[in-house]
Amino acid sequence: MLLHRTDGDGWLDCSCGRRHWGRLGAAGLLLVSLDGRVLLQHRAVWSHEGGTWAVPGGARSSTERPVDTALREAAEEAGVHPGDVEPVFAVVDDHGSWSYTTVVAHTGRTVETRPADPESVELRWVPLDDVSSFPLHPAFDAAWPQLRDQAMRRLALVVDAANVVGSRPDGWWRDRLAANRRLRDALVVAADRGFPAEELGLPANWWWPGIRLVVEGQARELEPVRGVEVLPAPRDGDTLIAQTVDNLVREHADDHIVVVTADRLLRGRLAPRVHVVGPRTLLRLLER
Ligand SMILES: [Zn+2]
Repeated sequence: MLLHRTDGDGWLDCSCGRRHWGRLGAAGLLLVSLDGRVLLQHRAVWSHEGGTWAVPGGARSSTERPVDTALREAAEEAGVHPGDVEPVFAVVDDHGSWSYTTVVAHTGRTVETRPADPESVELRWVPLDDVSSFPLHPAFDAAWPQLRDQAMRRLALVVDAANVVGSRPDGWWRDRLAANRRLRDALVVAADRGFPAEELGLPANWWWPGIRLVVEGQARELEPVRGVEVLPAPRDGDTLIAQTVDNLVREHADDHIVVVTADRLLRGRLAPRVHVVGPRTLLRLLER
């Protein structure tokens, strides 16, 4: 068996007065199946807080984002194929000089698992409501209530493209299609990076949304890409946005829904539980 090494391996004396594994912080993957179970790992007795249950995870390397670390560790420790999972949100336990990021990802299939690494002694799919009856690693135990609360939820981000493009006088009127394409491409990048929860009025720390970009007029020619669903409006964009949101509210009752628009009439047509943010908020997030 192979012990994987990265430049983040090592202990860090934290400002909280304790020592943590991962000189650059650490991350783990909480994998949630669509039938409401999570993948827990019984940690080897010799490991830190050995004998307790937690999620596959480990030290972040200098070339990784926390989500990369979580996916790599889950592959190494639990044989979870990154292509089988979809990151949805993350909770960050930030100590200042050290942090632990728990990435929550959904999987459409209950991936066959095996202990693939000396750090794993047992892996088990556990129903969400049974998790708290396990002897959990203290940090995971502390994070669990928030993780449990959001575990099955996703974020749908619906963008009023005409409204966002039109909010900034950057010459968009000379080529509306190109301006919409720039917005689409910036959304693809941001969707991969994740959106800060606070800016969208959401719980937890980061969300990876499913994005629906509603385009109208000339921009209906906009080509679809991986990562952003492009919805051309047959008539006006507002009607399609309202319909899209109605469908989401009906079919995904637990999911978070955020609509990006400054259009007051449209805002008035949306269900009360839908969050609305203005184009400036989105544009600021895209420029990060
Ligand atoms: Zn600490």
